[in-house]
Amino acid sequence: MNNPLESARQQLANIQTILKIDPNIFERLLYPDRMIEVAVPVKMDDGTTKIFIGYRCQHNNARGPYKGGIRFHPGVTREEVMALSMWMTWKTAVVDIPLGGGKGGVIVDVKQLSQRELEALSRSYMQAIFPLVGKNQDVPAPDVSTDARIMGYMLDEYESLLGERAPGVITGKPLSIGGSLGRGYATAQGAFYILERAAEKLHLGKEASVLIQGFGNGGGHLARMLHKAGYKVVAIADSKTTVYRSEGLDVVEVDEHKRMTGDLKTCEGCEKLPIDAVLSLPADILVPAALENAIHAGNADTVQAKLIVEIANGPTTPEAEEMLLKKGITVVPDILANAGGVAVSYFEQVQNAMNYSWTEAEVNVKLKEKMETAFEAVWGEKERYTTSVRMGAYALAVRRVAQAMQDRGRM
Ligand code: NAD
Repeated sequence: MNNPLESARQQLANIQTILKIDPNIFERLLYPDRMIEVAVPVKMDDGTTKIFIGYRCQHNNARGPYKGGIRFHPGVTREEVMALSMWMTWKTAVVDIPLGGGKGGVIVDVKQLSQRELEALSRSYMQAIFPLVGKNQDVPAPDVSTDARIMGYMLDEYESLLGERAPGVITGKPLSIGGSLGRGYATAQGAFYILERAAEKLHLGKEASVLIQGFGNGGGHLARMLHKAGYKVVAIADSKTTVYRSEGLDVVEVDEHKRMTGDLKTCEGCEKLPIDAVLSLPADILVPAALENAIHAGNADTVQAKLIVEIANGPTTPEAEEMLLKKGITVVPDILANAGGVAVSYFEQVQNAMNYSWTEAEVNVKLKEKMETAFEAVWGEKERYTTSVRMGAYALAVRRVAQAMQDRGRM
């Protein structure tokens, strides 16, 4: 299996051949500023204490405090967290918000925990990383298998340790304690704006057909938005099944079914296929919204879509992308396509700092403007260097980060 850190470093090395930033800055960007491993003890319901292993990686803060989500997943590794933190540095730079890149994770299968144990794990992890985080230091947020409720526990733990209110330390919080309207679905909303702009460039109309891998926060919200906007969502996959209907799924029904039963296996009126089938079905647009390395050298040849919009972080390995580009497939990279989440996280921090909240409409107008400005800037770089959309996004991001490093004399 591809090592995501190798992919992330390879992508940076690829853009360096075009950009040729100061070699000392390039060298420094290959490594995070800080990576810590923490023990996360949890008193389990049976009275035993179990130790989970957690990480927090701070890649770069030249443009602002480290920023990035916390993932609870059995597959979390040191390298994965390092790669994800590096991608966060580029993502915050692509959408031009004054934040850097960080990421956290705990090796845990949340499905094995009771509600009480999950809360205890969230609090224990925050205790472990407490010295590193702060609204001007490092600002966590949700990622895979973490959500607003967990951010609420972590904020409460942080503020109890600090002895004062500090809502800006964490984003993706519940609304009642300083969350932003629109944050819950912001990643998908941002991806929707980007998908529309990319589809326009490729002359794909609103009737375009779409495949979505992953039916969680990112993929689930996007499926509903696309369906509502008139796109034909023909396949959706979760971690157990792909459901397919060539005339288009009724996403509202699929969603209802998933909510009621917890999976897609018994969903009526559609074909049930193996999970990876979603990647190679005939359709115009493919949205990987699950985990990294979904599209790799072993399956890239089977992709039939004309456009890939990456909601997941790192779903396409560098070798796979080369194969896709040779086939004329356009890949809109994660660091642009899924940046809506961090953009609204930044808006959440701004509202916390003002002690004032915007309406949902105000948040979405600001998000649309951020995403469309970033898309045009990235497309401009792609044309300027006659390269892929990913390298266009890297050119923009790495140049911005390198400029901040240089201006700070970090060379
Ligand atoms: P989530 O836990 O809410 O959902 C993940 C979904 O993927 C679930 O439906 C799960 O069943 C499915 N899945 C897991 N393995 C699968 C497989 N092999 N095949 C098909 N489906 C599979 O997570 P999320 O928050 O939606 O995050 C998904 C991806 O998007 C991650 O890579 C994450 O880093 C990225 N992302 C999320 C956000 C956010 O705000 N949530 C922001 C930026 C990037």
